[in-house]
Amino acid sequence: MSDGLVEGDESLRRCLLEQINTETRKTAALTGCSALSERVQRALAVVPRHRFVPSVWLERAYVDAPLPIGHGQTISQPFIVALMTELLAPDSESVVLEVGTGSGYQTAVLAHLAQQVYSVERIPVLAEAAERRLRALGISNVDIHTADGTQGWEEKAPFDGIMVTAAAGEVPPALVQQLKPGGRLIIPVGPPHHSQELRVVCKDSSGMPHSRGVLSVIFVPLIPGC
Ligand code: SAH
Repeated sequence: MSDGLVEGDESLRRCLLEQINTETRKTAALTGCSALSERVQRALAVVPRHRFVPSVWLERAYVDAPLPIGHGQTISQPFIVALMTELLAPDSESVVLEVGTGSGYQTAVLAHLAQQVYSVERIPVLAEAAERRLRALGISNVDIHTADGTQGWEEKAPFDGIMVTAAAGEVPPALVQQLKPGGRLIIPVGPPHHSQELRVVCKDSSGMPHSRGVLSVIFVPLIPGC
């Protein structure tokens, strides 16, 4: 990843990282994650969130809160991005599927850690804008596709990890199918516009999925179809 990614106000970014680390410690009893790995912290530190938020929200780019990105969608809260990334634990050989590209911020964090990221977004203008932002940052290990992500991305499967950044009523079976044995799916599950449960689904070596709830979260809904 090029050093050109490091820009913007360093002290704001450090402060955000401290807030994320504090929140990680506070929620450790629920999440089982008491500290972020160095790799995830580094990825959060180098991805410039201000490049992914609409200009009217620029002053809040390094506040630990979700922000509107248009079309009724949001860029996720940085702590939630950090936690979901830590739970997914991609390594430099991982091939990852993200469902819900949105602004492309989470995509960029994953791209910094994984070998290849495939990301699916149902709203074409969001997919195009995210693609432009990632290209401008020199991120080249991401493919974005406009489609219904509840169906995964069959041609690119199987995946080492899958992350869904919109709330599903139930875990889409296609996503579990497209996970490699030993792989993990991180997904918020629950009713739209209410509190949902962030879930980790692990597929064991025999292909059997095991699921555990991690934290109560609020995401925009995963809308099947295009
Ligand atoms: N990770 C993004 C979060 C975006 S919000 C970010 O940090 O910016 C969730 C996104 O999921 C929205 O952009 C929404 O359009 C998208 N989405 C909802 N249902 C979808 C579906 N079935 N397939 C693909 N994307 C979907």
